[in-house]
Amino acid sequence: MENIKLVKSKGKERTVIKVGNIEVGNGFVVIAGPCSVESEEQTLIIAEKVKEAGAHMLRGGAFKPRTSPYDFQGLGLRGLKILEKARNVTGLPVVTEVIDPRDVTWVCEFADILQIGTRNMQNYSLLKEVGRVKKPVLLKRGMFSKLAEWLNCAEYIMNEGNPDVILCERGIRTFETYTRNTLDLSAVPALMELTHLPVIIDPSHGTGKTSLIEPMSLAAVASGAHGLMVEVHHNPAKALSDKDQALTPAQFSSMIKKIKKLSRFMGEL
Ligand code: PEP
Ligand code: MN
Repeated sequence: MENIKLVKSKGKERTVIKVGNIEVGNGFVVIAGPCSVESEEQTLIIAEKVKEAGAHMLRGGAFKPRTSPYDFQGLGLRGLKILEKARNVTGLPVVTEVIDPRDVTWVCEFADILQIGTRNMQNYSLLKEVGRVKKPVLLKRGMFSKLAEWLNCAEYIMNEGNPDVILCERGIRTFETYTRNTLDLSAVPALMELTHLPVIIDPSHGTGKTSLIEPMSLAAVASGAHGLMVEVHHNPAKALSDKDQALTPAQFSSMIKKIKKLSRFMGEL
């Protein structure tokens, strides 16, 4: 990894990214919400529920990079306005995906963190664009990418002047088909050695199965990750995207209680 400079660990100092009064990279941060923003009612219900359970930030896609062009593509600007309302009501900062370089500057008016999805990890023009704005970027791992390739993508963003990059492991493609992806938890301690940037885990896309999300989330805490991004829906069966991997608010709330206990225990180790 000769080419990475800005993302490379130098001594013990780690990057901490402040979003309002939340610090990503210091303690354990939980980002939760629907896969897609579907309607104002749906997003507000879920936002209130995840806030009540103890989430620190709200997630929700207004632009959805779907495998099929015939699947729900997201509400676009209308979705961003709904997220803005949810932030005003709950006070939770908003994480949302941007998929087109032409949208970056105006999406910044609605997002507290810009998400780059797995399919766009190596979209270099998009990376350069988010590197030129003053918003933290949550960079997901490409589903076919090595750590070195991923870190080079973070380098693209930082090289344009934006130092606030959060890495999110979301699973990679392997021969296994029981799970949607194979969540690479060894990436967490590996990245702690390689970079000073914060590292979080997405167990929802990482497994694709509701039943596996809690155990993988607890494993993420044990691995030393700085946080979690997880999909929650008040009526998973009716979700317009990723219904098989959405926790109900009750499941999320019960998981958060265990995460808090384990985090406390990890802090004592
Ligand atoms: C998402 O988090 O909304 C998403 C589309 O995830 P990924 O890019 O990891 O598939
Ligand atoms: Mn999803």
